[in-house]
Amino acid sequence: MPNAKAYATPGATSPLGPFTLQRRDPQPNDVHIEILYCGVCHSDLHTARNEWQNTIYPCVPGHEIVGRVVRVGNAVKKFKPGDIAAVGCLVDSCRTCPSCRAGLEQYCETGFVLTYNSPDKHSGGITYGGYSDSIVVDEAFVLRVPTNLDLAAAAPLLCAGITTYSPLRHWNVGKGQKVGVVGLGGLGHMAVKFANAFGAHVVMITTSPGKAADARRLGAHEVIISRNEDEMRKHHNTFDFILDAVSAQHDLGAYLELLKRDGTMTIVGVPEKPLPLGMFPLVMRRRQIGGSLIGGLPETQEMLDFCGQRGITCDIELIPIQRINEAYERMLKSDVKYRFVIDMKSLK
Ligand code: NAP
Ligand code: ZN
Ligand code: ZN
Repeated sequence: MPNAKAYATPGATSPLGPFTLQRRDPQPNDVHIEILYCGVCHSDLHTARNEWQNTIYPCVPGHEIVGRVVRVGNAVKKFKPGDIAAVGCLVDSCRTCPSCRAGLEQYCETGFVLTYNSPDKHSGGITYGGYSDSIVVDEAFVLRVPTNLDLAAAAPLLCAGITTYSPLRHWNVGKGQKVGVVGLGGLGHMAVKFANAFGAHVVMITTSPGKAADARRLGAHEVIISRNEDEMRKHHNTFDFILDAVSAQHDLGAYLELLKRDGTMTIVGVPEKPLPLGMFPLVMRRRQIGGSLIGGLPETQEMLDFCGQRGITCDIELIPIQRINEAYERMLKSDVKYRFVIDMKSLK
């Protein structure tokens, strides 16, 4: 079995450090990928620090993976050695339940296998993610990256991209709508780009006044500083749709009040603790609140192809893996511009 170099954390309060793990030999349907780049998602941090109380250690995070195929199993049809390939948050699912059949593997009814911190039916242990120099994945869960995209800047499309693309598509965001994005981080900056590309009037709702100019450059038509109550009040009852991509505690009601009658706020952020929610902002204007989890394999490929056609990638800060702990600290301070991506050359 091939050894892989990786970065792992041994426990919730420990920093990440060097770790060696074993990838399986490629099975007939497997693709063995040399990882070139891996994005750093806030979910990696929540998991590394056991904020969702489900982490099994040692934990190797990372689910925004772009790399080069080095070997394939003898039944693999879509990939050959030398191809560029990508892996997102999922590496398997039951493939037979109604959700899987509908291409919505993220809602697999018997349980999917996440790229990290999931039971691994091959090894009997848990899955290890993309903070590593290689990974072996069934070709059904491997994606193609359009050749015109910068590979490092494409990596975060595999989570930040699809997690924002999918709800914007599902709720038919487009022309004639006023759409808010809450939180200008990895997810939020992609939501701004997509909502703009779909033709909506995009409003960035941020706690960071220093990000206003960037928000406009990324495609926002207006910017609201959410800590300024007067600014918020001016926009009450005006939004058709809001995507909430916040990683920490915040007042949902304050954002719900921005929605007009029958407006929807969809949550993709998953803070550590439950958020309190008063019912008045919901009942007053028949407002709706929903949630959305990443995206299925077909939609992830559709999103990558859309990005290829429109030349959309992420705004990234490329880091060596040795700076991952510092990147986590900056993420906690909302100091992300707008996604860290690990250059896996640094692991060699
Ligand atoms: P990120 O890059 O760290 O961005 C989070 C942003 O939230 C910050 O940049 C900040 O933006 C805003 N924020 C932070 N604290 C806040 C507060 N107290 N009040 C209001 N806004 C605050 O994180 P990310 O990688 O985009 O992930 C965001 C969340 O989505 C995480 O909880 C992550 O686990 C979750 N996630 C969910 C899915 C899914 O499938 N549903 C997929 C991936 C990630 P401003 O500076 O603009 O205020
Ligand atoms: Zn993620
Ligand atoms: Zn299923």
